[in-house]
Amino acid sequence: MDFNDTPEEAAFRAEAHAWLAANAELRGPDDPTSSALAEIESEEELQRAKDWQKKKADAGWACITWPKEYGGRGATPIQSVIWGQEEARFRTPPNVFGIGIGMCGPTILTHGTDEQKRRWIPRLVSGEEVWCQLFSEPSAGSDLAGLRTSAVQDGDEWVVNGQKIWTTGAQLCDWGILVTRHDANVAKHAGLTYFVVDMHSAGIEIRPIHQINDGEGFNEVFFSDVRIPDANRIGEVGDGWRVAITTLMNERASIGAGNAGGGDSIMDMIKLAQEVGAFEDSDVRQRIADFYVKRKGLEYTGYRTLTALSQGRTPGPEASMGKLVGAKLMQDMGSFGMDLAGLAGSLAPSAAPADGTFQSQFLGSPGLRIAGGTDEILRNIISERVLRLPPEVRLDKEVAFRDVPTGN
Ligand SMILES: Cc1cc2nc3c(=O)[nH]c(=O)nc-3n(C[C@H](O)[C@H](O)[C@H](O)COP(=O)(O)OP(=O)(O)OC[C@H]3O[C@@H](n4cnc5c(N)ncnc54)[C@H](O)[C@@H]3O)c2cc1C
Repeated sequence: MDFNDTPEEAAFRAEAHAWLAANAELRGPDDPTSSALAEIESEEELQRAKDWQKKKADAGWACITWPKEYGGRGATPIQSVIWGQEEARFRTPPNVFGIGIGMCGPTILTHGTDEQKRRWIPRLVSGEEVWCQLFSEPSAGSDLAGLRTSAVQDGDEWVVNGQKIWTTGAQLCDWGILVTRHDANVAKHAGLTYFVVDMHSAGIEIRPIHQINDGEGFNEVFFSDVRIPDANRIGEVGDGWRVAITTLMNERASIGAGNAGGGDSIMDMIKLAQEVGAFEDSDVRQRIADFYVKRKGLEYTGYRTLTALSQGRTPGPEASMGKLVGAKLMQDMGSFGMDLAGLAGSLAPSAAPADGTFQSQFLGSPGLRIAGGTDEILRNIISERVLRLPPEVRLDKEVAFRDVPTGN
């Protein structure tokens, strides 16, 4: 493991920092973490995010690893990580492109035709269009291949009916990536086809879901005879699972990479413990020290990913560990921070001590432990693919989807 930049990496970091310093302000210690698509509350906020993305794209700092011909920089994964580290030091608008750039773009770049890449990728890079992910359904989350939204071919178009759920930011988006079932007579993984859908199409109804933290960043999306041109199909008919796996691999990598479990909140916790007179208690200090040690463990494990990237290797399972351990750590810290605050811990984040850091962590962490693979699914992956334990028994793999018992 090497903690230092190579001379080339150091030069790239200096160049990135100089551009950022000329175009944005450094973050202060009390600045909130930049929010994401799910937390956008106004058109103005969305526009600010689009403007920042455009500025980066014009200067060649958007989508660092993507090919230059589609608007990217054509640089290496480690340069992308360095850019991300430097950008995080500056005050920037919300990142509404996490799903589009983190998941949709890489999938189209891998499986799309040249025409599809030309149509969608440059406008994603320049921030003109925002994307969402239409995968989960009421009865298909962890078991995504059990999805039921149907697509029936009609000439040059497909007619889509069904329901998706938990679609982050659907109400703000122009395009969505959509997995459908085109054939229920074959095994569940074989009957899927993948599309890009125009979110302004007739027949799409978006209903926001009111969340525990009072936000409405997630949605139910209903499809009633929605027509999608065949030209928007990504991959072959029946290739949907293979294409979806590319999206999911990118999703886990982007969530794992961005989740070090609690950010600067250890210092917030120490300050809060001092304010309420709890820092003299050795048990409190011990708990905070435990959190710190876990955070450092995550940080150093993250360096393994960076070293692998720097040496041109593909990162290993440590990216999944980052999400598994980091999300639980965030929940434990949120819970302890609220306990420290006593009765004030039950206030809403906007009125709570430490600017509501711990309430926000506590309310947001259950979602983090579910999104992009639940704790249990990540443990299954680690046990099967890392520890090489026997795989989970799967009884529905070879059965035609229509014959899989559902209990209905
Ligand atoms: C913050 C957030 C944002 C999201 N954004 C999107 C989005 O933009 N687009 C989208 O399509 N989806 C999105 N989702 C949905 C997410 O992908 C699903 O919630 C997730 O895949 C889990 O599926 P589920 O909710 O149906 O739970 P289920 O799969 O029904 O799981 C229920 C419980 O059973 C456990 N379980 C299930 N299968 C197994 C197994 N084989 N072994 C052991 N335990 C198991 C799970 O771990 C969980 O505890 C989002 C979710 C969250 C929380």
